[in-house]
Amino acid sequence: MSMKKEIPLECPQCHKKTPFTMWQSINTESEPSMKEAVRNKSAFLFHCSSCGRETMINYNFLYHQPEDNLLIQFSADDENADEFLSMLESGDETLHQFSEQGYVIRLTRSLNHFVEKLLIFDEGLDDRLIEIYKVLVLMQYFKQNPETNAAIEAYFYSDKDGDKQIHIVADGQYECSVAFNPELYHDLENNFGAHLPALNESQPVIDEDWAFDMFEAGK
Ligand SMILES: [Zn+2]
Repeated sequence: MSMKKEIPLECPQCHKKTPFTMWQSINTESEPSMKEAVRNKSAFLFHCSSCGRETMINYNFLYHQPEDNLLIQFSADDENADEFLSMLESGDETLHQFSEQGYVIRLTRSLNHFVEKLLIFDEGLDDRLIEIYKVLVLMQYFKQNPETNAAIEAYFYSDKDGDKQIHIVADGQYECSVAFNPELYHDLENNFGAHLPALNESQPVIDEDWAFDMFEAGK
């Protein structure tokens, strides 16, 4: 079931208020149109009806894609993230049931990472191997750019024609892309895959830190 509420939001530019729909819970079975709206982020875009200014709004929600046994909590703040993790740890009944049904359960902390997770699972890939893959790409980047002081992040990206890339982002700005190499991915699958539990038995936070730890352990 989906849950939403409409609340008046103040425009950061003209300070007039416009109603904005916030989803507490998104279920793509009951709201199929949300599948695309979260992927292109239009679901999080606040459009001021007075001055036209568009602002991306971060807020907590649970994303549920029943047809693919996928559950992702998006936490805009630490409190929400901690709450979700402690619900999982304490064996919350609803979450436990999803887990029993083989659901992949994840927690993400940024909209970019949330959308990235969806792309990875849309492509039928393992998000853990992609995080390890990204660490390799980042290591290569730092080797080639030893002087950089920018905050560097990597994101998996797939375009409409199915071209897969790793995007490098420096200080929040697009820097460059590296073509995704399926052979390297399969090598990682062979090297790391055997050491990983089933995808649905993995821990909920699969990110760069997780991958660095994994990479170190697998060396
Ligand atoms: Zn405005």
